[in-house]
Amino acid sequence: MPDSIDELLTFSDDDQPSAEFSHGRHWQVLIVDDEPDVHAATQLALRGLNIEDRPLAFTHAHSAAEALNLLQQRQDFAVALIDVVMETDDAGLKLVRAIREQLGNSMLRIILRTGQPGYAPEIDTIRQYDINDYKTKTELTRVRLFTSVTLAVRAHAQLQQLESSRHGLEQILTAAGELGQPSGLKKFAAGIVTQLCALLKVNEKCLVCAVVNDPQSEPVVLAAAGNCAGWMGMPLQQVPDPRVRLRLERTLTARQHSLDDGVCVYCPGTEGQAIAAFVDLPRPLDDVERRLLEVFCSNISTAFENLQLHLNVNELAFHDNLVRLPNRHAFIASLNEREGLDQVVALMDLDNFSYINSVLDDAFGDRVLQAVADRLTGTFKGCRCVARVGGDLFALHGPADAIQPERIASVFASPFTIDQSEPLRLSATTGLIVIDGPTQPAAEILKNAGVALKQAKHFNRGKTLTFRSELADAARDRMTLLSRLRTAFSAERLHLNFQPFIHLASNRVVGAECLLRWKTEEGRFIPPDEFIPLAEQSGLMVALGEWVVRTALRWRAGLKGLVDDDFRVAINVSQMQFNEPDFVASLLTAMNEQQLSGHQVEVELTESVAVGHVHLISERINQLRLHGVRIAMDDFGTGYSSLSILQQLSIDRLKIDRSFVSGTKSGPQSMGIVRTIAALAHHLQLSTIAEGIETESQRTNLLELGCEEGQGYLFSKPLDEASFRRFLISHRAE
Ligand code: C2E
Ligand code: MG
Ligand code: MG
Repeated sequence: MPDSIDELLTFSDDDQPSAEFSHGRHWQVLIVDDEPDVHAATQLALRGLNIEDRPLAFTHAHSAAEALNLLQQRQDFAVALIDVVMETDDAGLKLVRAIREQLGNSMLRIILRTGQPGYAPEIDTIRQYDINDYKTKTELTRVRLFTSVTLAVRAHAQLQQLESSRHGLEQILTAAGELGQPSGLKKFAAGIVTQLCALLKVNEKCLVCAVVNDPQSEPVVLAAAGNCAGWMGMPLQQVPDPRVRLRLERTLTARQHSLDDGVCVYCPGTEGQAIAAFVDLPRPLDDVERRLLEVFCSNISTAFENLQLHLNVNELAFHDNLVRLPNRHAFIASLNEREGLDQVVALMDLDNFSYINSVLDDAFGDRVLQAVADRLTGTFKGCRCVARVGGDLFALHGPADAIQPERIASVFASPFTIDQSEPLRLSATTGLIVIDGPTQPAAEILKNAGVALKQAKHFNRGKTLTFRSELADAARDRMTLLSRLRTAFSAERLHLNFQPFIHLASNRVVGAECLLRWKTEEGRFIPPDEFIPLAEQSGLMVALGEWVVRTALRWRAGLKGLVDDDFRVAINVSQMQFNEPDFVASLLTAMNEQQLSGHQVEVELTESVAVGHVHLISERINQLRLHGVRIAMDDFGTGYSSLSILQQLSIDRLKIDRSFVSGTKSGPQSMGIVRTIAALAHHLQLSTIAEGIETESQRTNLLELGCEEGQGYLFSKPLDEASFRRFLISHRAE
């Protein structure tokens, strides 16, 4: 026996408290044994042992259960000296299995010891559970123990190094992958901060920040965590901590890392740009970390260069150089990456911009766009994106409280001065929408904003209109109806009805009004009040109106012999139709074709016809009257300019609107109005006809008031061609 257990006990007076050392510097050794003497002896035997300049620190467990518990809480043990026989004959072996399998701890080096040789583990177990050494306690003399522990600690250190290399490599690979994504410098810098923290295993509280240096401008803090989180966006010069500021400045000037007293890394990019990042590391770097940082930084530099290339390409693809704003692509990207409160989109179209461009010149137009862009960026600083998405089309995306109609209006409140020109007043029409949830696609958002803008142009020119889905539904319904109307018109499914005019005093049929009817394929009648405004808005009314004129005149020509010579056909003519330059000529041609003369034809105009174009209208009216065609003012009394129209236009007849006769406004008061209209007509020597007579007493009243003619359900509803003929015959028989 070369060495004895007694020898191990020689240093028993030196009683070191266990685990009182900082975990960083010492090799942590766990002694697991149910015999208290063994603890003391082992500790004494290993006293003064330094492995690679680091001393040992001991922790004691007196049973397998206690050891397992400890190992669960601490991962910093390098070596465990474990007794095989404790609570049970194989408690130590079970503990080893638990360490490897249950705790998944493969780093801990294990030295098994036993008092009795008979309890030695199988060779398979030693291999399976990666046991470093197996010794009987008597074999473990001080020298042997030294050797065994030293080897175990070295093995542990190697494993640890391998592990941290592997981990660092993983970090770098992920970093390069994530940082290569085209999400801009800010994300890039934030990525560096996160990766550095992970690489150096420092937590959020450590001060970490990255600045970007651009030869064109001052370095700025682009990402910051921990105690310096508040520095984001701050110019480096203003960073309040002089130590951090100076370190970063020096690193940028020296163009190299400085790795003492905290870590400051330098990653060069292209065109003089560089990123420097500082980590306030409270300990010196070890060799592995130094090497890892080198690899990390060279990876970052490559990713940084790629990113810069990407940003340059982006700059071209996503930027509008004329007005120095993001373009349509960039706006769509902003919509796709939206988050939080950025829920409102406004699409803004400059009013009459094509006029500015053509009357003044293109270069001036460009200057106007720039001026508008500048004002928009100034006014909408709180927006996520202000972009030019088309010629004179601008778009805003941001939170609801930033994009409000009043603020949009304020952009155009004061005139623009361009090139010392006369102050130029501009206005814009804007469609505004609230985004419908986080999943709504950008294309749909833009489409809705476009619908809102279209509606605003229709109803709210020069102002902002907020899109509501009812409006969209209504617009869609109108579009469907219009397309059905076009089909019906070309399939000749439209026809005319005729409603007789009665001379109230004599009960004679003196004419008839032609009323357009649309019967759908399903047999449903769509009222003209619904489809005529649609036809007018779309321009279809011109063709429709021509057809009405030809059909009405042909019908009148076909009545020869059935009606008196002065029986007149009254045709409703809409404003748009009447404004057509060849309206008069084509009416006269059609009359000629049917051999009708002027006194057999009447044109019904509404008061709206005259708004804005009085001279032109007046001229046309005069031409028609010259050919004997009568002009009736339809729905008289409902428009706001009734009286002034009478002064300006020479017409033949007033049609008293049915609302005063039998409709919503009828009653004692409206009879007063009818009396006034009748008196006025008499005074101006105009004829009168009352619409909507439904009762005998209405007829008598109107007659008494001096109204000459009437039309209404009392006499007849509007009739188709055949029914009208029957009506004429039966009426004559009365
Ligand atoms: P309007 O020119 O004022 O036509 C008179 C309307 O009064 C007709 O409605 C007629 O059916 C209705 N009416 C006649 N008598 C009575 C009655 O006793 N009681 C009531 N409650 N209503 C009566 P309708 O056919 O629905 O036409 C509505 C409007 O559509 C017309 O008003 C006219 O402005 C327009 N319209 C109809 N056909 C044409 C057309 O060919 N061209 C143009 N431009 N407009 C047309
Ligand atoms: Mg009419
Ligand atoms: Mg009318």
